[in-house]
Amino acid sequence: KAKRRGRNTFQWYTDELNRKVTERVNLRHALQQAIEQEQFELHYQPQIHHSGRVAGVEALIRWYHPERGNIPPGQFIPLAEDTGQIIPISEWVMETACRDAVVLNAESATPITMAINVSPMQFQRPGFLDSVKQVLARSGLPPALLELELTEGVLMDSAEHTIQALQALRQLGVHIALDDFGTGFSSLSYLKRLPINKLKVDRSFVGDVAVDSRDAAIVEGVVTMADKLGLEVLIEGVETAEQFHFLRTLQCGHYQGYYFARPMALSALKAYLKTPLVVVASQESPTSL
Ligand code: C2E
Ligand code: MG
Ligand code: MG
Ligand code: MG
Repeated sequence: KAKRRGRNTFQWYTDELNRKVTERVNLRHALQQAIEQEQFELHYQPQIHHSGRVAGVEALIRWYHPERGNIPPGQFIPLAEDTGQIIPISEWVMETACRDAVVLNAESATPITMAINVSPMQFQRPGFLDSVKQVLARSGLPPALLELELTEGVLMDSAEHTIQALQALRQLGVHIALDDFGTGFSSLSYLKRLPINKLKVDRSFVGDVAVDSRDAAIVEGVVTMADKLGLEVLIEGVETAEQFHFLRTLQCGHYQGYYFARPMALSALKAYLKTPLVVVASQESPTSL
């Protein structure tokens, strides 16, 4: 009987493995079609300066598959990284986001930074710097309004060429943000050596920040350190008034999260930017004038 169960277990693993492999192959084909048929869209999530002004937006890719519906980036970006499909996808993202940033800035009284997520493979390609130059030239976006979000994973291989690549980007005038800060394996010495502008504190520290003194200590410590290093800070994933009112006391530069606004299509963002946000010190949601 035990033997039989063992066999069944083995059978189950094989089926499960086959299912996963098939799913990956299917997704890969679907992704290829998505690239060819431009099934992607960019949504933009506002980044709020503590004064209440919208200082920038982050571009977040959306994929609406004709039959399967919305497939989140967490599902297909890692696969696209493995297959190399991330390269054409990233080119489309850069092109579209920079073009939209020019449109947004033409309509806005204050400058709006466009933050774009850069995947490790994209960053490590030899032609990356040139592709950034070209997209800036084509779109006409001032380099200072482009912010590239890199994760600690990219910088982990903090070889000389990584530092040089970052320096070259900085010389262009482009800004660099370290995304999901605190979740990777980076050593603090990176912060000393790498020419970055901003830390984006990962939302895993924010959920309980108002009730867990350890999370609070970490966020507070990062804010203080960043300040002394001359780096900007953005706190990700602010979802509630309670979190925001706690974080405000730390005076940490910028915030992003559902409490302020969800990622939205360009047309919705334009409307959002026309109604100035008032960050009030009450338990209310931010209200429009
Ligand atoms: P990320 O760069 O850390 O982006 C922030 C993610 O948190 C987004 O998820 C956003 O929708 C979500 N988020 C924002 N505010 C809140 C909040 O208050 N609460 C919670 N729970 N979540 C919040 P999304 O859009 O699903 O993207 C997931 C990840 O996929 C991104 O994480 C980024 O690593 C990657 N990604 C998205 N778009 C692109 C892209 O165009 N290129 C590349 N290479 N990666 C992308
Ligand atoms: Mg990001
Ligand atoms: Mg992040
Ligand atoms: Mg992330």
